[in-house]
Amino acid sequence: MVTQEQIDKLRSAPVASPSLIIDGRPHATSDSMPVVSPLDGSTLTQIPFAQQTDVDTAVAAARKSFDGKVWSSLAPKARKNILLKWADLIEQHAVEIAVLGVKDNGTEIAMALKAEPLSAAETIRFYAESCDKMYGEVAPTAPDALGLIHKEPVGVVGIIVPWNFPMMIGAWKLAPALATGNSVVVKPPETASLTLLRMVELAHEAGLPDGVLNVVTGDGNTTGNALARSMDVDILVFTGSGATGRRLLEASAQSNLKRVYLELGGKSPHIVFDDCADLDAAAAAVVAGIFRNAGQVCIAGSRLLVQHSIHDALLEKITHLTQALRVGDPLDLNTQMGALNSEAHMNSVLKMLDGAAASGGQRILQDTGGFFMEPAIVAGVKEHDALFQQEVFGPVLTVTSFTDDTDAVRLANASELGLASGVWTNSLSRAHKMVAAIKAGVVHVNTYGGADNTVPLGGFKQSGNGHDKSLHAIDKFINHKTAWIKL
Ligand code: NAD
Repeated sequence: MVTQEQIDKLRSAPVASPSLIIDGRPHATSDSMPVVSPLDGSTLTQIPFAQQTDVDTAVAAARKSFDGKVWSSLAPKARKNILLKWADLIEQHAVEIAVLGVKDNGTEIAMALKAEPLSAAETIRFYAESCDKMYGEVAPTAPDALGLIHKEPVGVVGIIVPWNFPMMIGAWKLAPALATGNSVVVKPPETASLTLLRMVELAHEAGLPDGVLNVVTGDGNTTGNALARSMDVDILVFTGSGATGRRLLEASAQSNLKRVYLELGGKSPHIVFDDCADLDAAAAAVVAGIFRNAGQVCIAGSRLLVQHSIHDALLEKITHLTQALRVGDPLDLNTQMGALNSEAHMNSVLKMLDGAAASGGQRILQDTGGFFMEPAIVAGVKEHDALFQQEVFGPVLTVTSFTDDTDAVRLANASELGLASGVWTNSLSRAHKMVAAIKAGVVHVNTYGGADNTVPLGGFKQSGNGHDKSLHAIDKFINHKTAWIKL
């Protein structure tokens, strides 16, 4: 159990200038970039700014380790034990890492602790356990042949992650990529790199062989682009915006046709029917579903769809709960909504709210130098309004009323995105019909969020084309090789 005292001690600890880790060793770069803390606008430290040559060196180290089979030829149980040790180390350093991450990206600490180091450790354990439980297959052939299907690691995996939950999302990709025997180059987000750098250090402390996991920090246009266009990266797995996702597909087409898996944005409908058994619970879930991590959550339930007859009652409850949210210092254990990740991002959210009749939505706590804003509720939003259609990725909830089930489904699906959704109803039959009708990777029923590693998370429509989490994620990182033997 973490205490405020522990956090406060770490709050003022200076942040060292990290190095890239390539081939198991610190790698010096000629350029660096500042890390600006969203808590107060101060410069925390400098991180390396990897250029094309640094990325090439990292990819070459990954290739050498893969071709040398230093990882893939270890007994599966040995790979498992190293990954389990890594998870243990992350857990042992969880408070230190969570505080470092909060200073870097502004997420409220209670959530950061759970969603970042602890969740990353849990994910690594999940896939570590798969190492010695994955079997090949024997095909149901005619008796004159034997068809064997071997699962082989693909090679060098490039991983690019966003800043909202870099460790959690990083682990969703790193853990299955490594468990299956691949080598990796990971690029953290430029505005939240520190925790992933630390995570890679701990992987080496756990015994991961040199060159198997390399990290390059820097921006998207230079560092990310160099990774995406590398002729020696076999798979690119990405979480981030749709705009970047499109550029990665182009990069693949213009380089070596590497496989590209995209987990992109969301504009998720959170639907409340008038037969909802517990309107207070629904209201609390709607508020948490949009405002945790200041709405910077891919599955944020950003579009509330509420049945006309309960619209006013629910809106009143939601407004009341939202106004009571404790917004501010992300390193206070009682804070429920922290800072936005960067000044530029905060300004883009404020701009999207410009002219909207919002309750809340102003910049606050400006005297701290940090990037804070009030949670905003915008009622009466119509299907074709920009706020209904565009991902804000900030603390903004739109409210739209519907008449019946058909209207609810129509509105829920009236988006190019299809990542997540939620439905509150007391009818089992309606719940199942909604699960079938909503075009999204996950439909939460009488709850919102909270799914664990056992189930996949992936977008429909323009929310992406891959799946993180669950054993299904493993398929991205293996080649199925057939041996066809004449008997
Ligand atoms: P972003 O696309 O701007 O950046 C994501 C990563 O891509 C960063 O590391 C960035 O440096 C890199 N990048 C940017 N341009 C690049 C390029 N040309 N080539 C290679 N790499 C490049 O996204 P963001 O603002 O960091 O993250 C927010 C977005 O991520 C939102 O749209 C959000 O919904 C989405 N997201 C999706 C999920 C999911 O699971 N589907 C989870 C979290 C966030």
